[in-house]
Amino acid sequence: SSVFANIVRAPEDPILGVTVAYNKDSSPHKLNLGVGAYRTEEGKPLVLNVVRRAEQMLVNDSSRVKEYLPIVGLADFNKLSAKLIFGADSPAIQENRVTTVQCLSGTGSLRVGAEFLARHYHQLVIYIPNPTWGNHTKIFGLAGLSVKAYRYYDPATRGLDFQGLLEDLGAAPSGSIVLLHACAHNPTGVDPTIEQWEQIRQLMRSKGLLPFFDSAYQGFASGSLDADAGSVRMFVADGGECLAAQSYAKNMGLYGERVGALSMVCKTADVASRVESQLKLVIRPMYSNPPIHGASIVATILKDRDMYNEWTVELKAMADRIISMRQKLFDALSARGTPGDWSHIIKQIGMFTFTGLNTEQVAFMTKEYHIYMTSDGRISMAGLSSRTVPLLADAIHAAVT
Ligand code: PLP
Repeated sequence: SSVFANIVRAPEDPILGVTVAYNKDSSPHKLNLGVGAYRTEEGKPLVLNVVRRAEQMLVNDSSRVKEYLPIVGLADFNKLSAKLIFGADSPAIQENRVTTVQCLSGTGSLRVGAEFLARHYHQLVIYIPNPTWGNHTKIFGLAGLSVKAYRYYDPATRGLDFQGLLEDLGAAPSGSIVLLHACAHNPTGVDPTIEQWEQIRQLMRSKGLLPFFDSAYQGFASGSLDADAGSVRMFVADGGECLAAQSYAKNMGLYGERVGALSMVCKTADVASRVESQLKLVIRPMYSNPPIHGASIVATILKDRDMYNEWTVELKAMADRIISMRQKLFDALSARGTPGDWSHIIKQIGMFTFTGLNTEQVAFMTKEYHIYMTSDGRISMAGLSSRTVPLLADAIHAAVT
């Protein structure tokens, strides 16, 4: 018999498992609102024109080879990624206080940052919002940090529990790490206002809490790359330290290319260079060095003014389509007279709406309407289209009446 005979079957991933179930459904009307990937009005995945153009340029450049990248990845990519999130004129960058390493998309950037902190930071407690992207708990826990939650979402208002957030961060042990979603909080779609961010910043700096930003949706939330980086830039502008994990999965549509970056903003250039030397020791035994193709696409686009501008236009079009789906769904529920207040659908930000539907209602919608979503009632607005909004509205209406 197998030496692995005792292996217990693991449950499907709560998010990716939704797609597994969807793929098994033979209904022609089935609709997948589970996974966070952009779809066109026709329900198709999208490769940006500017990405196709960059890939063509890379293919035509016969000087390009497939050698290994350095442990920290493509130098141009790292510099340009730091500028993208911190701003082109960021003093921290000019003072060489930022170290950036190319990682395997947002997830890999979070994991490398977590491994570094577990090895070198004095306070091994990280606070993550309740709720948060399900992978956060595992990423930080498996890296060896002790994971605690801070209050974030208030189901009663379907908005931010700002008082609870301030109380929990205020009571956190000094030096604790705090995971913050830079924008478009997943799964709730609820972000602090600028004024609330400023209060969070003051509280965190006064208590010496270390910010770790997860930026998976820059430009994808509002359509503006600068606006969506506002929270991060506020924390960097005060001269303090922080970490930031960036993903190009959503905003450049590079999901499967696995391209992202971890930046650490330090007090001095000397500290930053020592930090980088240790990040290399974290990375080398995990995957040696990152893949070259996706980072080359990103660098090609970010360093060329025309291509950068073309990207921002395509990015805004994606953000605008998602925002228009919010309005369409809200209008469709209003037209049906669906009981309840659905204004959170248009108030929430980014790829997801946290509908407030419970597990039973979600199961009903999947069984009766072949609509798939995570069991917490989170739906991907990016997976909706003008054609499918009425189907979803019918299903929600039936589920709550
Ligand atoms: N962080 C958040 C909040 C996310 O929603 C996601 C993707 O869904 C990620 C990080 C990481 O995604 P990826 O590793 O594909 O860049």
